Amino acid sequence: MALTPRFSGSIEVVCGSMFSGKTEELIRRLKRAQIAKLKVQCFKPVIDDRYSKDHVMSHDSSKILSIPVAKSSEIMEKVEDNTRVVGVDEAQFFDAGIVEICQKLANRGVRVVVAGLDMDYLGNPFEPMPKLLAIAENVTKLHAICMACGTEASRSQRIVAGDDQISVGSKEQYEARCRSCHDINETKQSTLTFPPIEGSKA
Ligand code: ZN
Repeated sequence: MALTPRFSGSIEVVCGSMFSGKTEELIRRLKRAQIAKLKVQCFKPVIDDRYSKDHVMSHDSSKILSIPVAKSSEIMEKVEDNTRVVGVDEAQFFDAGIVEICQKLANRGVRVVVAGLDMDYLGNPFEPMPKLLAIAENVTKLHAICMACGTEASRSQRIVAGDDQISVGSKEQYEARCRSCHDINETKQSTLTFPPIEGSKA
């Protein structure tokens, strides 16, 4: 009996703190799929209107066309029959239904690439990301650089007052921190300075 290769769907999650390059990585994967002539569609929640209404755009300005949707069920309505790869950016801002949508798409043979914050600014798991991480075939956790000490950062520090979990991250309101420099009670910017190298004239 000959084996016939078939399209097999899967879920990939790219997660991490703010400034960890999640969107850049999502765009990189989607662009590679486009180069392979696969039909790609990318979605983002309408809550995220930081840069452009029709593009997923990362902090470093690489971009890909994306469709803003108000709720996860709209993704199912808008995915076209010949779409092979579906991207979802800022998945933490979607409703709980996004988990089932990703499952359904993967089950019907679509490669789903999801990017999102794994933790909120308190360091708690940011739903629905934990469930997406659990059902994914492949998980990539990216790190930023701690702006207080310069080591690998896994957390997002809020540096302005406020307590809503759903605050669309802008550069001015957050900075990346490592576990030991992350402080939920602190709302001020860090000043990362390095001591002069011994023997230097500076
Ligand atoms: Zn640190």
